[in-house]
Amino acid sequence: AAAEARFIANNPLSQKQHTLAAGSLPGGNTRSLLHTSPFPLTVNRGQGTHLWDEDGHRYLDLAGDLSAGLLGHTPHPAVRAALLTALDAVGLNLGATTVQEERHAALLCARFRLERVRMANSGTEANLHALAGARAFTGRRRVVVFAGGYHGGVLSFPGVGEVRGNTVDVAEFVVVPRYNDLEGAKAVVQRAAAGGDLAAVLIEAVQGAGGVIPGMEGFLRGVREAARAVGAVFVLDEVMTSRLAPNGLGVELGLEPDLVTLGKYLGGGLTFGAFGGRADIMAVYDPRLAGSLAHSGTFNNNTLAMHTGYAALSEVYTPEVSAVFNAKGDALREQLVVVARGTRLSFTGRGSLIGLHFTEDGTEQIQSGEHIKGKERGDLRDLFWFEMLEAGFWITRRGFIALMLGTPDEELDGFIQAVSKFLDRHSDLM
Ligand code: PLP
Repeated sequence: AAAEARFIANNPLSQKQHTLAAGSLPGGNTRSLLHTSPFPLTVNRGQGTHLWDEDGHRYLDLAGDLSAGLLGHTPHPAVRAALLTALDAVGLNLGATTVQEERHAALLCARFRLERVRMANSGTEANLHALAGARAFTGRRRVVVFAGGYHGGVLSFPGVGEVRGNTVDVAEFVVVPRYNDLEGAKAVVQRAAAGGDLAAVLIEAVQGAGGVIPGMEGFLRGVREAARAVGAVFVLDEVMTSRLAPNGLGVELGLEPDLVTLGKYLGGGLTFGAFGGRADIMAVYDPRLAGSLAHSGTFNNNTLAMHTGYAALSEVYTPEVSAVFNAKGDALREQLVVVARGTRLSFTGRGSLIGLHFTEDGTEQIQSGEHIKGKERGDLRDLFWFEMLEAGFWITRRGFIALMLGTPDEELDGFIQAVSKFLDRHSDLM
């Protein structure tokens, strides 16, 4: 309560802006995830890896727009040049097939080992189209997903029986209760396939919004095998995880997905999504073929994102940069683990994605959201969030860190120290 009172006192202009925003946006919000009680901080500027809010506070951005902001808030010179070329020499959306969409598609195919790819405007769209493609290819309807899985605003599966009301085709989704439980997953896949109507299994190789929980290799491969055994399309959602390895996490782990979905940073900071994989499946979208599926988004090949995405992937986030960057994330996580040993704070994740968890017993082996259900200490998580903001560190309230390129090492050291001080200051609660 004291931390919240300080938050209110320190942020009068954000509070005022929130009241104003609520006059036109429900709850003053248009990205549910960004709402925080008593009100969200209104950010008015970003530069490099820093943010400034309405009340003039400066933060080191550790949330990285939930992984989409990988490249930082200031466009890299290569991305900036691509954007200016698009604006000055090409023009805004042309409403026609362009050279640039082919260039970006070929790059995505080569990088993530896809035979064919199609573009969309968001990760949500990419997943919706991948599932539609899997359904058309198999002639089946149902889809197996995992509790804690997040595949977009209308594809969110917090837990069994907790499918969000806005999920499309609710009845068609079958939720596996526990991520990383291969036997449970196999049983659900077999049961869902029993009527001969299972089209796809959709999974993240690291559950992102579900707590940054890595899938174990045996589990992920086993799920793929279970999908294959019943003729279901194995769809790997790499919207968040493609950043974690030079060719995406699916390639790194040898998962050989049938379809992959992509998004976030791959537009170079502009809105983007893509889905691709096996040519025979993607052929359902080939307009030269009779009975093909339509996929006609106006902005699928939008000029700006095709240019900035290409520059980002070819010149900025190269395979070499990806390897070094994720090693930096691993090093940060290891240091945080050392600082928090013996407390209620533990960390999950892989590479540049880190999850923070406050649990009753400080368990270090978190394998699924289900695993820590009922043991989470939301009060400590909130206290941590308020105090990290006060110390100038921007993380999500749920405890999510997505590193951005170019984050200064000394500021990461400062964060580790701030965490250490927090744990000391509240040792009675830890
Ligand atoms: N899939 C995963 C794994 C995600 O983390 C997200 C977004 O957070 C999405 C899909 C949806 O992407 P978008 O927000 O671009 O629609």
